[in-house]
Amino acid sequence: MAAERIGVFGGTFDPPHNGHLAVAVNAVHDLGLDRMLLVVANEPWQKVGTRTISAAADRLAMVAAAVEEVDRLEASDIEIRRGGPSYTADTLEELATAHPHAELFLVLGADSAAGLDTWERTDTVKALARIVVVDRPGARSGVLPPSWDGLHLEVPQLEVSSTELRRRAREGRPLDFLVPRSVVSVIRRHELYGVRDEHGASD
Ligand code: ATP
Ligand code: MG
Repeated sequence: MAAERIGVFGGTFDPPHNGHLAVAVNAVHDLGLDRMLLVVANEPWQKVGTRTISAAADRLAMVAAAVEEVDRLEASDIEIRRGGPSYTADTLEELATAHPHAELFLVLGADSAAGLDTWERTDTVKALARIVVVDRPGARSGVLPPSWDGLHLEVPQLEVSSTELRRRAREGRPLDFLVPRSVVSVIRRHELYGVRDEHGASD
């Protein structure tokens, strides 16, 4: 039997959006993945102190809603269960232990890939996963720091970011067609990003 192929796509997902989903489904397709884990960072240590980050449980609820009806995509709470700052090296170690025969693919947008050398325990990351870089509007194409090897995947370029979505939400502008409807519902129900739930609990 062929080894299971598991994708790992980590993020803060504050909120998850169609750019993330386009990356995830295209990675499943192009790499022939059996499963693609959208791993919700518990504590995105490189962002802490730079802005307010939504509660991990809210971000997990949004990712779970986003992947609900999408084959092979799964919301992963592995970093939330572990607690503390989220290091991909720890996550890959846990996954490699739980799935000793699987091949792990770490999927990153070009902006994240450019910062790989700033990560914790990069030797572990290099040893445990194949790196897969996707382009992102506004980021330099296909960049990997010198000592890294990886694949480059062509995916649809959607110019959307969580930062822009948080700003839109605060300004009362629509998020529709930039994030799945199910995510808009969670944002309303949990009253995230200053959005008020005008329909109350019956929505
Ligand atoms: P923020 O603006 O808060 O940083 P973000 O939109 O960059 O949010 P993250 O949760 O930081 O989302 O990103 C998780 C992963 O998804 C990263 O590897 C990032 O490069 C990638 N990514 C995010 N948006 C896109 C996009 N539109 N196209 C390709 N990759 C993306
Ligand atoms: Mg980002």
